[in-house]
Amino acid sequence: MTFEEIKKGEETYLMHTYGRFPVALERGQGATLWDTEGKSYVDLTSGIGVNSLGHNHGALTEALAGQAHKLMHACNLYYTEPMVDAARMLVEATGMGKVFFCNSGAEANEGMIKLARKYSFDRYGAGRSKIITLIQSFHGRTVTTLKATGQEKFHQYFFPFTEGFDYVEAGDLAAMKEKLDDSVCAVMIELIQGEGGVLPLPRDFVEETARLCREKDILLLADEVQTGIGRTGSLFCYEQYGIRPDVISMAKGLGGGVPIGAVLAAAKCADVLGPGTHGTTFGGNPLCCTAAKTVLSVVNRPEFLASVREKGEYLKNGILALHSPKVKEVRGMGLMLGVVVEKEERAQLVTALRERGVLVLTAGESAIRLLPPLVITKEELDRALGAMKEVF
Ligand SMILES: *Cc1c(COP(=O)(O)O)cnc(C)c1O
Repeated sequence: MTFEEIKKGEETYLMHTYGRFPVALERGQGATLWDTEGKSYVDLTSGIGVNSLGHNHGALTEALAGQAHKLMHACNLYYTEPMVDAARMLVEATGMGKVFFCNSGAEANEGMIKLARKYSFDRYGAGRSKIITLIQSFHGRTVTTLKATGQEKFHQYFFPFTEGFDYVEAGDLAAMKEKLDDSVCAVMIELIQGEGGVLPLPRDFVEETARLCREKDILLLADEVQTGIGRTGSLFCYEQYGIRPDVISMAKGLGGGVPIGAVLAAAKCADVLGPGTHGTTFGGNPLCCTAAKTVLSVVNRPEFLASVREKGEYLKNGILALHSPKVKEVRGMGLMLGVVVEKEERAQLVTALRERGVLVLTAGESAIRLLPPLVITKEELDRALGAMKEVF
């Protein structure tokens, strides 16, 4: 099909829930993508933080093909080995307690919210069910995670939303202190607000919130759906903040392209969700867990994580070295960067980059968000920087 035919088909057969860029992607290699017209692009999106090992990564595609030949799905009424391997790797890498596998970030957050509420219910009874989240956060698209998302624009149309969420401005410790009363069971945070604009949380705010939570037996829930799996230069971003969350949700980069999410709970709350309280048909299937295993075995090595930090610095410094008046700020950690530009200029800059063969994302009102595959090469980064030099 030509691009026009694909576009026409999309308009005819798919619900119009997305504004798409005028590109139909066909294949990829490393951090390079090709569209159906044969044009190549440097991928600074990873399919929104998903293709952590880039495209057509040998170890990943081989592991997936091998597992597809053996067994793709078995349902949770049976044991399978890949699910145990993937869970063990997550537990051993973090010192957490146990894992629940699901299929997406929103689902991981739903699981984490259920876990937090039941933890509190089991210990303190009803009435301690509120979860504090942050203004400008993003936690997903289900009816509950929309309400958990601290942005008014997401609290429309789909009434009634799940009750029991309240919001605090990121960095406002006084407000956090005030809201942490006996109706609260958990605080849920993204350490770097991704969709909200690539906004790293202030360190002292995170440390003090973690301390307050511990003091009051309020669970600290880290939504690492975007920041996790090496994205910021450590396996999880919380490590760089020197805190220990009670529960971590992840998804995006975990499967390197296949849909898998997970809830990882510390020992003290690892057995809260018992038989019959939670579940999902696809969760933990051997195909997706084989992907997670492979991704973790590549990403969770000190040299690999160091290379993410180093490439992140290289990209950030390369953009700053352009000394462009169009670039107000570059923020973020590792290979999760936000280039802050003028709100009115952003769409046109994104288009200009795409025309020069660089795919980027946006976040918040004024950030161009860069989430390249963690395996991106210096050559690919240089090609992207070359286009940025022209555009910025
Ligand atoms: C993308 C994202 C989600 C939602 O994940 P889905 O897989 O789209 O459901 C939740 N939280 C954060 C921080 C995200 O970036």
